[in-house]
Amino acid sequence: MTSADPIPSSASDHAAEPIRRDFIRQIIRDDLDERRHEGVHTRFPPEPNGYLHIGHAKSLVLNFGIAEEFGGTCNLRFDDTNPAKEDPEYVEAIKDDVTWLGFHWHELRHASDYFEVFYLAAEKLIRDGVAFVCDLSADEVRAYRGTLTEPGRHSPFRDRSVEENLELFRRMRAGEFADGARTLRARIDMASGNINLRDPAIYRIKHVAHQNTGDAWCIYPMYDYAHCLSDAIEGITHSLCTLEFEDHRPLYDWFVDHVDLVHHRELLAPLDAQGWHEEAAKPRQIEFSRLNINYTVMSKRKLIALVQEQLVDGWDDPRMPTLQGLRRRGYTPSALRLFAQRIGISKQNSLTDFGLLEQALRDDLDAHAQRRMGVIHPLKLVISNLDESHEETLSFPNHPKDPEQGTRSVPFSRDVWIEQDDFAEVPPKGFHRLRPDGEVRLRGVGIVRCQEVVKEGDVVVAVHCTLDPETRPGMPGADRKVKGTIHWVSARHAVAAEVRLYDRLFDVPTPDDEDDGGPGYRAHLNAASKRIVQGWVEPAAAQLPAEHSIQFERIGYFVADRCDHAAQAPVFNRSVSLRDTWATKS
Ligand code: ATP
Ligand code: MG
Repeated sequence: MTSADPIPSSASDHAAEPIRRDFIRQIIRDDLDERRHEGVHTRFPPEPNGYLHIGHAKSLVLNFGIAEEFGGTCNLRFDDTNPAKEDPEYVEAIKDDVTWLGFHWHELRHASDYFEVFYLAAEKLIRDGVAFVCDLSADEVRAYRGTLTEPGRHSPFRDRSVEENLELFRRMRAGEFADGARTLRARIDMASGNINLRDPAIYRIKHVAHQNTGDAWCIYPMYDYAHCLSDAIEGITHSLCTLEFEDHRPLYDWFVDHVDLVHHRELLAPLDAQGWHEEAAKPRQIEFSRLNINYTVMSKRKLIALVQEQLVDGWDDPRMPTLQGLRRRGYTPSALRLFAQRIGISKQNSLTDFGLLEQALRDDLDAHAQRRMGVIHPLKLVISNLDESHEETLSFPNHPKDPEQGTRSVPFSRDVWIEQDDFAEVPPKGFHRLRPDGEVRLRGVGIVRCQEVVKEGDVVVAVHCTLDPETRPGMPGADRKVKGTIHWVSARHAVAAEVRLYDRLFDVPTPDDEDDGGPGYRAHLNAASKRIVQGWVEPAAAQLPAEHSIQFERIGYFVADRCDHAAQAPVFNRSVSLRDTWATKS
């Protein structure tokens, strides 16, 4: 969708979404019109070396969204070719996140499911004279590679015979050599202007156990080799990846063409044991720009550091840009989809404003979240013309614009909590809430007038008011105008709640400034990004189930914490404030 397209008001309302016209969907439409493919098959290929973050959500929404729109399929494939950094903990978390976002994968695969196919394909490349075993060390390979302005030099091992290469490669697999002693390389072009084509490595020796294949292998395929062949094996028609792989595309195509699974289906024989009958196809790689958001860091390495150095409270810290963190913060799957639609897809690298993510959440919750009342900085208000034992039950709509959300009972009594901010002894100009001798409407109750301010020293501890009975709902004066309306919670019925006031994790737009001579992201952590206060909430808020989102009227959107919330001891996380308070700061 381009920025000129109308924005759907509700992300969950799929039918109302406008047709998206980004360049990738245009390519797919053309491919289908010209009958280059029978159907559309995409994949989401995370490496299980960390938790998914908001950037992955962009790729998920794109890949699963396209499959859905074109009546195709999308696989979830773990790109697990680098065993040293991978872990089953991440595999499980990724599956959980994808499911939470509401996506259903067609097949669940691992690149490692294809290790035997990759191996057979490598032997084919050797037999075809386009791959060789090289004995140069990593440093030597680097020295031979040349630079952007100078061609590389041929490895002295480049012209080994097919027989010698096959024998050495088999011995690599058998574990006869130490890590790094040899590599299998493609024999392409050491003078290519594209350095990726200068005899790139296909296999490296690594005596490391693998999270999926255990000790079965001590040689592992390189990403550039494994990724494109995995796509080809699964019959992926459009392999969507981020822009940094643009320069790798010629190599992607080179491997796909030289292995040529479409005409060498015998290479797929190892998959028969699995019961998989793959329709190999020639995939096409298309690149789009990755998501970057200000006020955050997104590389897995930095997210891991934040967790390990305990700068945050774990992967699901509500301030983290991980999907687990966003979920705990109260982000909904529909808000994340809405955000992904609004940012759209292009080839232009850019920095997205964090405010756009927050606005998607506000718009989603404004439409769907029920309203409750809660007070986070309490001040006692006593209605002196009511009996001390006065008690009644009021009926409040759950949603101001959606009567279908029904009503709830809200208890009311003589003493209520209001926000400290809603009273000012010396009001600033333009202050429309309660002041000495002033009037304000207590939401759903009527108009109260402040008669007395009770202080301990300089501190206001209570205000005493009278309630005008003529302004109660249903009375003739119910519509009498006053400038301000404030929320409240009956003190006798209120439930004490832990309220976690979260804000952005970093307090500058580009925290990751090390490369530009800055102090780095650790120095830009926002000290005010987490404040915990004890507030009071109405009973109907305390009783909400964990992970339920609401708006505390006039305060913001909150979610009952996924882990810690209980009806007797409620815990609410602030998901987002009602208005963007950062727009004016930056
Ligand atoms: P990182 O650089 O943070 O480690 P990655 O790109 O290595 O991320 P993968 O697990 O390999 O992470 O990514 C899985 C898929 O998600 C890939 O197709 C990748 O292009 C995509 N992806 C990752 N980060 C982003 C991002 N910021 N914006 C859009 N797509 C992304
Ligand atoms: Mg990666």
